[in-house]
Amino acid sequence: MQTADVVIIGGGIVGSSIAWHLSEAGCRNVLMVERESHQGKGSTGKSMGGVRAQFATAPNIQMSLYSIPFYAAFEERLGHPSGYRDQGYLFVATKPSHLEYLQTNQALQEKLGLKQVRMLARTEIVAMVPQLRADDVLGGSFCPTDGFVDPYSVMVGFTTRACEQGAALWRSTEVTAIHHNGTNVTGVQTTRGPVSTPVVVNAAGAWAAEAAALAGVDLPVKPMRRMLVPTEPFDLVSHEVPMVIDMANGFHFRPESLGFLLAWNDPEETPGYKMNFDPGFIEKVLVRAADRVPCFENLAVNPKRAWAGLYEMSPDHHAIIGPVQELTGFFCANGFSGHGVMHSPATGKMVADLIVHGKTAVVDRVEMLSPARFAKGELLHETAIL
Ligand SMILES: Cc1cc2nc3c(=O)[nH]c(=O)nc-3n(C[C@H](O)[C@H](O)[C@H](O)COP(=O)(O)OP(=O)(O)OC[C@H]3O[C@@H](n4cnc5c(N)ncnc54)[C@H](O)[C@@H]3O)c2cc1C
Repeated sequence: MQTADVVIIGGGIVGSSIAWHLSEAGCRNVLMVERESHQGKGSTGKSMGGVRAQFATAPNIQMSLYSIPFYAAFEERLGHPSGYRDQGYLFVATKPSHLEYLQTNQALQEKLGLKQVRMLARTEIVAMVPQLRADDVLGGSFCPTDGFVDPYSVMVGFTTRACEQGAALWRSTEVTAIHHNGTNVTGVQTTRGPVSTPVVVNAAGAWAAEAAALAGVDLPVKPMRRMLVPTEPFDLVSHEVPMVIDMANGFHFRPESLGFLLAWNDPEETPGYKMNFDPGFIEKVLVRAADRVPCFENLAVNPKRAWAGLYEMSPDHHAIIGPVQELTGFFCANGFSGHGVMHSPATGKMVADLIVHGKTAVVDRVEMLSPARFAKGELLHETAIL
């Protein structure tokens, strides 16, 4: 029978990062199992590629503090481009409560070692993006090391190097059962045959609850549709602008190719495996785009190029990372709630550390992200969700 030291369910950006970090830690008999014929068909290939450290809680900030410098050095380290562009994230506040929120966050970010975040006055925001309608803008915050990456390229880079260091990737193969003896993981059943292993990592993205259920584990991760609208080429706004977030309604955009990528999280969206793009979304996002950037009323959009994908929502919108207490050898790397690309380097390092050493220094208190927190009622609180 095939044996592996670690089996990873899911070959997206998170599974790939875990495989690479494990191989770097000397754990090389790693098997990544992906049910699709190609990697990236889950959320990774649908992402907006935004990376930011401007968060409101220590675990999220600290995961970004590992991940963003990692992306900056990715090509040097892995010999493969990450596509990292440090164009920043600009949060634009129109309510006093939002401004206070940004200020509070900035104080925590600074305390944790992120010194580059600046609070901006309206005039500075307008200088940065002159086309913004700013009559109601009270201020904002900007971090120049935030930006964007190419998620697909990152995933391929992690996978290629992990495989060179001994890991294996089985594509078109589904994990259909997780075997255990009551206390310990003993193996998995796949559509390509059984694999004996003492460690299984759940990196199944929006399908994580189903993967956990294969081991009889209840994992509170729900799929939530998110849609993105790329525009046709447009040059009335500079392509050097940062990711801009209108905190009044959550509309955000960033440059993409010769046009822009428009996003807005519809509060009426409900959980479910809805992968279809709803053409009615275009009108909704364009109204918000033209409201904040009046010249965006001239944007042209080809509905056939727009797409939908799934966020993997956890109850407190934080990742679920760590061992499952009731089943030794079963680890979670789930529930990123829309931040799995930006946090994939940190997740890979944390999961590899936990498997190999039983502890990690990426975040101060990794138990805050443990799957056990839900049963204990120890949820985290993050309100800056995009
Ligand atoms: C529209 C949109 C915009 C986004 N924007 C951003 C952003 O700007 N920044 C950011 O950080 N994140 C963003 N995200 C979120 C990000 O894409 C995800 O958090 C991230 O891709 C999760 O990676 P993953 O590897 O965990 O999941 P996935 O990429 O979904 O990979 C999981 C894989 O597991 C496989 N799988 C599932 N079950 C099994 C099984 N039983 N056997 C074998 N294989 C299985 C699936 O086929 C899938 O390929 C966005 C997401 C969407 C949809």
